[in-house]
Amino acid sequence: MAFTTALTKHVPFSSPFLRDAGYINGSWTAGGATKTFDVLNPATGEVLASLPDMGAAETREAIDAAYAAQPAWAARPAKERAGILRKWFDLMVAHADELAAILTAEMGKPFAEARGEILYAAAYVEWYAEEAKRIYGETIPAPSNDKRMIVIKQPVGVVGTITPWNFPAAMITRKIAPALAVGCAVVAKPAEQTPLSALALAVLAEQAGIPAGVFNVIVGDDGPAIGKELCGNEKVRKISFTGSTEVGRILMRQCADQIKKISLELGGNAPFIVFDDADLDAAVEGALASKYRNAGQTCVCANRLYVQSGVYDAFAAKLAAKVETMAVGDGFKAGVAIGPLIDEQGLAKVESHVADAVSKGARILTGGKRVEGAGTFFTPTVLTGVTREMKVAREETFGPVAPLFRFDTVEDVIAQANDTEFGLAAYFFAGDLKKVWRVAEALEYGMVGINTGLMSTETAPFGGIKQSGLGREGSRHGAEDYLEMKYLCMGNV
Ligand code: NAD
Repeated sequence: MAFTTALTKHVPFSSPFLRDAGYINGSWTAGGATKTFDVLNPATGEVLASLPDMGAAETREAIDAAYAAQPAWAARPAKERAGILRKWFDLMVAHADELAAILTAEMGKPFAEARGEILYAAAYVEWYAEEAKRIYGETIPAPSNDKRMIVIKQPVGVVGTITPWNFPAAMITRKIAPALAVGCAVVAKPAEQTPLSALALAVLAEQAGIPAGVFNVIVGDDGPAIGKELCGNEKVRKISFTGSTEVGRILMRQCADQIKKISLELGGNAPFIVFDDADLDAAVEGALASKYRNAGQTCVCANRLYVQSGVYDAFAAKLAAKVETMAVGDGFKAGVAIGPLIDEQGLAKVESHVADAVSKGARILTGGKRVEGAGTFFTPTVLTGVTREMKVAREETFGPVAPLFRFDTVEDVIAQANDTEFGLAAYFFAGDLKKVWRVAEALEYGMVGINTGLMSTETAPFGGIKQSGLGREGSRHGAEDYLEMKYLCMGNV
């Protein structure tokens, strides 16, 4: 059987959302795959499912289907596409509990957080259902009376999407919803750790009436092989990737031969700055939200916490006191705030960052160790006395570790905050309005949270600068990534 009781105790075997195949041209299929790969529950290490290990051949088949289906989809009136997306949104909301159970099982995040992610993912579908009707062009005053000039927007065509495991539902809809809304067709490749959520979303997309071939899902263990086909196939006109900067670079190189359009949402190394005049309790709440959500496995996670000398000790004590109350465990258990890390490799990285910091003089205020037994858990951690020589200053830890750096002046902290090749998210807490503006403008990041630790929403442009990426997702700007601009000049009128 493709699904084990480790999964079916959370999601009934009869659930229509459990699929053990990819989705190509409206059919659930393994294609020519002869091998399978396992999907694990990181909280227990148990196998949840075995799925067909699809590769380049199946990807090609899906691309052909998308290529054939895209013109008719693009030709549908925007209002019709919008209506279908709206149905998909309604279905996601109606089935949020089942979708959240699948998500917690394969990814580990606490059930309440998983449910929150499903609603967040659905919100992108709702937003782009609305935006589909507002893909406006423009008219331009002509240089002479016998000419008329306009700009129209058209879908780029077939889009290949590649997404990570940390938000198995939201990363998918953030790309698929705008692509479908403007008339593109998609071949989606979810992370090999979390394919079940993507398949469940495809079930609902089918129910909503998204036509065969317009949305395809390839499941497989060999990301590089699938990625190569998506980047190398001339029928694919655009790649949209979320994941590590390292893989983003590979994809950008692979897209170079055909000058293929590419959007990249890559790694971050977010600074989180607390100034002396900040509301300290609000700053602690912001740090908890930004740092420990998803066990610290988000690209916009506070990675380096800079605290001004005057409030350093008080902030550290307040934060540690709150962190100590966070329950670690299986995301299905009530009251759990910190689930497992995705795998042993992720856990080993967090452990090595903490060990490196301690060996160079940092102090563990709370946490600091792996939880023995099944699953890949790490206790939520606060480190003090952290300096820029430590790994936590340069690399994305991707775990529940808050390293606290001490600083004295605004100039100094801005220089340290910007001293990274990344530029995704930054946060700061301050009172003085002049300082707020100065700091917000000086931070070299695509997104800045001011007196808040949470800023992601479908209505705002999400994305980074420097080596954190290209393009934006969400908001009206997110649709532009899937559109081509065409200038029409009519003479002799
Ligand atoms: P990853 O780059 O290893 O994998 C992401 C996806 O790429 C997976 O689907 C994987 O199978 C695929 N992949 C791997 N190698 C490939 C290749 N050579 N060609 C094509 N596809 C390939 O990243 P991860 O470890 O799954 O995710 C964590 C990273 O993602 C972190 O760096 C995090 O900051 C980043 N991330 C960024 C955002 C954002 O919006 N900026 C959001 C979430 C995660």
